[in-house]
Amino acid sequence: MEQKPKKIKKPRGKAQLIEGKCIACGARCQMSCPVDAIEMNDKEEPIIETGKCIGCSKCVKACPADALEMFFTPEEQALLKEIESQGGVADVVEESEPEGSGSAAAGGAEANIALWKGVWVYIEQFEGHAHDVSWELLGKARVLADDLGVELAAFVLGDNVKHLAQEAFGYGADKAYCMESPILKHYRTESYLRGTVALVNKYKPEILLMGATGLGRDLAGAVATDLKTGLTADCTQLDIDKKMRILEQTRPAFGGNIMATILTETRRPQMASVRPHVMPKPEFKQGQSGILIDEPFTMQEDDIAAKVIEIIKASQEKSVNINAAKILVSGGRGMLSRENFDKLQELADLIGGVVSGSRCAFDEGWIEHARQVGQTGKTVHPKLYIACAISGAIQHLVGMQDSEYIIAINKDKNAPIFEVAHLGIVGDVFEIIPDLIEKIKQSGAKIVE
Ligand code: FAD
Repeated sequence: MEQKPKKIKKPRGKAQLIEGKCIACGARCQMSCPVDAIEMNDKEEPIIETGKCIGCSKCVKACPADALEMFFTPEEQALLKEIESQGGVADVVEESEPEGSGSAAAGGAEANIALWKGVWVYIEQFEGHAHDVSWELLGKARVLADDLGVELAAFVLGDNVKHLAQEAFGYGADKAYCMESPILKHYRTESYLRGTVALVNKYKPEILLMGATGLGRDLAGAVATDLKTGLTADCTQLDIDKKMRILEQTRPAFGGNIMATILTETRRPQMASVRPHVMPKPEFKQGQSGILIDEPFTMQEDDIAAKVIEIIKASQEKSVNINAAKILVSGGRGMLSRENFDKLQELADLIGGVVSGSRCAFDEGWIEHARQVGQTGKTVHPKLYIACAISGAIQHLVGMQDSEYIIAINKDKNAPIFEVAHLGIVGDVFEIIPDLIEKIKQSGAKIVE
């Protein structure tokens, strides 16, 4: 008969005050306690009733002076070590909170947030080639890891993908976890989910980033659901609140009308996805090395319901990639017709650029969807973005505002596009564009890569 693994009750510890650190902030710890286990003395310092404390660590997080910590008895510390050595929480019973305590739904992640350390980036690959978004994320993740003072790790799943783990070192990873198996040759939600969850449960990274690609969206959602943690999709900015040691995940909300900063306070890992080309790709440093850790993948082919019968690749013919363009000449509703976009094409050809446009230009049928910039189109990051007769609605701005240099041409001097433009030209595109084309032709200027 198969032996069941030993069930261990995971200790939650008790909150305790660190002598001399309380700043009498006004009882924030007391207010955060869901079980009234904190009284304040006449110096406005907390007295923690350990018999009542449920180890939720809310007071520790609420303290602005880091004056509270979680205390574990030597026995509890030994248990935590044993759980660590079992390599995960799957067979561990969580000590539950009393009903009505306000956080009874929280699992292991909440109880021991302090055990989760490090920033991880998922290296998405297809046929052994990494998606650029993975390297872009590593660049940002390096900053986050440095802010937290923790390790940056990449993790990759696939068949014969060790070279990508090595490549990750060149993009700044300190460590790389590599899970290889012929079963992982092609992406399938079930197998990649199981592999990722096993890695996360074993090593407990506090932050996990994935690209908001088709594959990344599928995997990130499945992993977050399985781990019962939060996921902020399509972030445009990621920062660390150093005081709280928490990831600030910023993304457009309410149809792009506001930028919302979202925190995953009580769960780990903190998961976020970012679209390709939102973050700059870091420079690859040849010869940079790190620690490579091989992890076994234990699933069998029979365990996976989905089978890959055939891979049919989308035709690359005629498909345009505005993400990769260094110069974009973008048109909006003010261009008035499909034919007028020919002028933008002429300018683009002269300066080595690609034509793109606003959603209105797409809706009017003047450009194909692959050329649309913005929230429901592409996020671009060119060296030069020329916005022609585009008003600059927030849904457009979120897709182009990180361009290195923005020139805006609009006849309305109050158009919001001027707020993000480095050079604003108030005037009629139908005069300015032909003039510009003429001047470039006369100058005989050549495109220099
Ligand atoms: P308009 O807002 O109509 O602006 C036209 C501009 O042209 C005006 O500023 C006008 O002054 C100027 N103009 C007119 N004639 C001339 C001339 N002769 N010379 C110079 N200037 C002239 N929009 C996107 O672009 N991308 C998206 O991905 C996107 N996603 C969206 C998602 C949601 C959920 C929603 C609700 C909206 C989305 N939109 C998106 C639409 C967005 O809100 C705007 O409606 C759109 O960006 C406006 O496009 P536009 O600037 O081309 O047109």
